[in-house]
Amino acid sequence: MDNALLWKTALEQLELDLSPATFKTWFSQTQIIKKEGPLIEIACPTAYVKERLERYYHGQIKKTLDLILKEETNLVFRTKNVERPAANLGPLFEKGREASLQRIKQSNLSPRYTFENFIVGSNNNLAFAVAQGVVENPGKRHNPFFLYSGVGLGKTHLLQAIGNEILKQYPERTVLYITSEDFTNQLVQAIQNHVTTAFKKKLRNIDVLLIDDIQFIAGRESSQEEFFHTFNALYLEQKQIVLTSDRPPKEIAKLEERLSSRFASGMIADMQAPDVDVRLAILRQKRDESQMSISDETLDSIAENSPYNIRELEGALNRVVTEAEMQHQEPTAALAQKILGQAPPKEPPTPEKIINQVCTYYALHTKDLVGKRRLQRVTRPRQIAMYLMKQLTNMTLSEIGDFLGGRDHTTIIHGVALVEHLIVEDLGIRDQVLVIKSEVCG
Ligand code: ADP
Ligand code: MG
Repeated sequence: MDNALLWKTALEQLELDLSPATFKTWFSQTQIIKKEGPLIEIACPTAYVKERLERYYHGQIKKTLDLILKEETNLVFRTKNVERPAANLGPLFEKGREASLQRIKQSNLSPRYTFENFIVGSNNNLAFAVAQGVVENPGKRHNPFFLYSGVGLGKTHLLQAIGNEILKQYPERTVLYITSEDFTNQLVQAIQNHVTTAFKKKLRNIDVLLIDDIQFIAGRESSQEEFFHTFNALYLEQKQIVLTSDRPPKEIAKLEERLSSRFASGMIADMQAPDVDVRLAILRQKRDESQMSISDETLDSIAENSPYNIRELEGALNRVVTEAEMQHQEPTAALAQKILGQAPPKEPPTPEKIINQVCTYYALHTKDLVGKRRLQRVTRPRQIAMYLMKQLTNMTLSEIGDFLGGRDHTTIIHGVALVEHLIVEDLGIRDQVLVIKSEVCG
């Protein structure tokens, strides 16, 4: 057996015994670089990985290799970047769990999103309970389940966890996870290739349909039409449908009424930003999953200094760990404070602030800006205000319209598009917008 095959065999076994996060973090870039008698040298990409493997996994790796080779081995870990790392060994690598992983893959799910690693707090406990209810009784209790939240707050995680759990508990059911963008793209392709019947059939034959970010279907006529029929067909057969979105059904602009009322006809739950305790719990879990050596005190500091969005929270943790590694020091609370304190979390500016800055810059009265008059000297600043609100706040187009004196959302779309065009074409406007923007965000 050559070194590559030996290591591949060992990794297949190790992957079965370890959590996916642990495996991926510590083993994906390793390789056997030398074997002489019982002596085996294992290359690790960084000193940090080497230290981890030596300290925590030496016994397990040795046991695995001993079993494969049927002899006592003697392991040495080296820091060395290998050219052809065993890399990207996904969970599919495993033999033992191949069947279920095959199903997970067919369902378009990622095994990393589970109920077990979803931290529950007051910000998301209702959504979590509903998700569990869906799994207990697919298609019956909460159908459809409509889940919404701001970005990075766990929608995709919870949605996929539902899918993974259903696959686990109901071996005979089929699940499909799809983003609404993929839905649209696949539909367009099916139309082009004249295989719409096959596309429809595929969708209507599944037991559990999980659609992520349904808001992107808005404004797309044929997708809405097709989705409407898919929805009805599945619903009538008591198949489970779960949808996520960044806002409740009624607030999705350009979503047909017949769809939004169906989306709202089952169970709706939202998730809020996590408070500091939940953020800390999430950080602790990430640490334990990937066996990082980082103290509770440092995690506390990260939780305190991080934004509310969980995706950014994970980014903050990684930044602190990487920075510490680069500086060859421990990831202390002070270091975390230093790194994260530099970029304090920012709330989006209020629309009032945007209007005030635009008016100050162009020496206008607020009442002119939000007024009905269409004077040239007011129109352009008003459009810039639209653009900045769209870009810097979470306001919907109709909210922006309401704020600017009850303007229609198509007027807002037009204004925003115009300014987007102008800042490329007209350097003068571009400078003006940048100055106002820096005042608003400063
Ligand atoms: P969204 O789809 O709402 O934008 P994601 O589901 O992609 O957000 O979540 C962003 C990241 O935060 C993912 O890595 C996810 O695993 C993690 N995450 C979100 N919520 C939780 C939670 N409650 N517990 C643990 N991790 C979470
Ligand atoms: Mg998502």
